[in-house]
Amino acid sequence: MIRVKETESIEPICPHCGKQVVEILARRIESMLGVRFVYFCSECKKVLGVSHRKGFWMG
Ligand SMILES: [Zn+2]
Repeated sequence: MIRVKETESIEPICPHCGKQVVEILARRIESMLGVRFVYFCSECKKVLGVSHRKGFWMG
């Protein structure tokens, strides 16, 4: 079983630019399936993830 541990002392690393992700940008996308959000790195602007379900963080 994998446990989830909350941390505020370690910053996640962007898989694209290798920099610490201190801020994630989100952009709203309106589609026929509803509103989605695309999340991207504030450093390199590459996409980290897209929300697939309404109300679900990172789908
Ligand atoms: Zn990046």
